Amino acid sequence: MKIGFIGLGNMGGHMARNLASAGHEVTGFDVAGVIVDGVASAASGTAAVQGADVVITMLPNGQILRAVAAEIIPAMQPHACFIDCSTVDVDSARQVAADWPLSIDAPVSGGIGGADAGTLTFMAGGSDAAFAIAEPLFDIMGQKAVHCGESGAGQAAKICNNMILGATMIVTCEAFALADKLGLDRQKMFDVVSTSSGYSWSMNAYCPAPGIGPKSPADNDYQPGFAAELMLKDLRLSQQAAESVDAATPLGQHATDLYQRFVEDEDGLGKDFSAMLPRFSKQSR
Ligand code: NAD
Repeated sequence: MKIGFIGLGNMGGHMARNLASAGHEVTGFDVAGVIVDGVASAASGTAAVQGADVVITMLPNGQILRAVAAEIIPAMQPHACFIDCSTVDVDSARQVAADWPLSIDAPVSGGIGGADAGTLTFMAGGSDAAFAIAEPLFDIMGQKAVHCGESGAGQAAKICNNMILGATMIVTCEAFALADKLGLDRQKMFDVVSTSSGYSWSMNAYCPAPGIGPKSPADNDYQPGFAAELMLKDLRLSQQAAESVDAATPLGQHATDLYQRFVEDEDGLGKDFSAMLPRFSKQSR
């Protein structure tokens, strides 16, 4: 299959490489001039999508996605399927679908490691026809793909998931900082909570306390992993979406405010999102 791939950054580069390794003819473009093994380089987005059966984008945000879509759509073959894997606002996803009906919003979970290993989870929104075209490619780049509904449903699933993740990471970090002050050993705290009703992915799989639980960014001086600023981006998307449908999300809003403070005023920029633990440890009530 001929694939045009736009946005060859931390995630897209690995995803395009995996598609090429699986035997697809992949042509890529990135404004930063990134070169990826096995992927032909095009001089522009328009050149990358020419003759492609499938076009995949993996871009930083909705504004850039809309601009790229406006540029490439006139150059796409009529039967081509447009798969956007970026994390963007629901409105941008729906706009792309309105402009190109054979399209699917398919944000991912699994991070750079998952992109590299081809073990991402895709949450997809779009028609059955678009999902049927995209699914074999999701199988190469990932281990699971859920067809969540019509256009925008993939982005809706992603931002709801990450709103839960942001809030649970914060409360897990708070709990460790509280346990420290109460004189409770961190390992004991983990042993209890990870097998009790307070368990969560943040505690069990990505423990924010160094040396506790499976290996995580906490064991590597909080190098990301999943950077705090990316969590802030996703939390802002959740609040933008909540606002657009008048949904009450008080904890989501509070998590957004805390990550904003952390990233903008408290040296959190460039640190893993679990670095909230040393932040809370430094603070008093
Ligand atoms: P990134 O910044 O590393 O990659 C984005 C790439 O897009 C960059 O290489 C940039 O040069 C390129 N780009 C920007 N504007 C462009 C344009 N007009 N035309 C062509 N290329 C352009 O970001 P990333 O970490 O690869 O993330 C990509 C998307 O995936 C984001 O929406 C992010 O929220 C989402 N995501 C990231 C992770 C993660 O762990 N990094 C996890 C899940 C989802």
